[in-house]
Amino acid sequence: MGPGPSNPYPEVMEAFNRPVLGHLDPEFISLLDETNDRLREVWQTNNALTFPISATGSAGMETSFVNFITPGDDVVIGVNGVFGNRMCEVATRAGATVTRVEEDWGRTIDPQRLLDAHPNPSIIALVHAETSTGVRNDIAELGANKGDSLLLVDCVTSLAGIPVLIDEWNVDIAYSGTQKCLGVPPGLSPLTVSHRAMERLVETPQSWYLDLNMIKEYVSGDGARAYHHTAPISMLYALHAGLGVVLSEGLEQTLGRHQSCGDELHSRLPELGFELWAQEGYRLPELTTVSIPEGLDDVKSRQHLLDRYGIEIGGGLGPVAGKVWRIGCMGHTARMRNVTLLLGALEELTNAGH
Ligand code: PLP
Repeated sequence: MGPGPSNPYPEVMEAFNRPVLGHLDPEFISLLDETNDRLREVWQTNNALTFPISATGSAGMETSFVNFITPGDDVVIGVNGVFGNRMCEVATRAGATVTRVEEDWGRTIDPQRLLDAHPNPSIIALVHAETSTGVRNDIAELGANKGDSLLLVDCVTSLAGIPVLIDEWNVDIAYSGTQKCLGVPPGLSPLTVSHRAMERLVETPQSWYLDLNMIKEYVSGDGARAYHHTAPISMLYALHAGLGVVLSEGLEQTLGRHQSCGDELHSRLPELGFELWAQEGYRLPELTTVSIPEGLDDVKSRQHLLDRYGIEIGGGLGPVAGKVWRIGCMGHTARMRNVTLLLGALEELTNAGH
């Protein structure tokens, strides 16, 4: 139960046994197309350009910025944790003039503050589910009031864990990661781009590998596909299978399973002396943060949980290192039996005073 599932869906691990096809083999291309269709369902979008980038979530972040920033562009970014900060670094390297809208870690960012930060930025960017704090940032109001700006959202820890409504919320660019609520190992970054954003695609982005002008010739559309890079075939089998699990369970049901586990943790942890740390009303069901109770040693206690119960708890990052724990309950791990095991283990831990 770390901040990402170390325990993918069993169907996903089975998919790694499939024979490895060539990346332009028609059979593989139709699997890629089906994967993209499945992604559209999970993203709740009709965006034509919807596919997984062949690298981790950070590459999705970089793709989202480098393809839509011309040096000197004004970009507004919400920062209330590690990943908002990373967005600022990526956008700055791409040549943007970044306006940071800061909020205390553990608190949500008021969308109006982002809208008021600049009269007409080219991009407004925000992390939907801040994995470093367990806080949700709301998106819908930004989509409704963004004006000419493109709305760019990090959905690494939200996709398939809490509702993500790309079309309804008017999101233009969004990326995710496979290793969180999708229950697949790390290695791919699902991306979706609106038609409106595609019209503003930079002609020669500052990255060759992540250039959507070329990648789109390989990953989308009918007819012949042009080689761009050798797709990581087995990882795509895994994602295809993971999305299959989510959709055959039903997206609503998958989200409901994450929500019930989160609700149970949020109601029971305080009874055990673990105070919930994230702002009330904005707590993620898939990633719960708690203050470490006095008397418990951060590192030793987490090591004990790992050795004795096989439960991995994430430590705090940056300014909250040593102060909070991050309890991931996502993907295949989001089961009530795991919640029960964790609560029992924490009770034992506090009684023993580790
Ligand atoms: N964004 C968020 C919200 C994340 O939680 C992470 C990773 O945990 C990333 C971006 C970066 O993803 P990756 O580590 O897969 O590159």
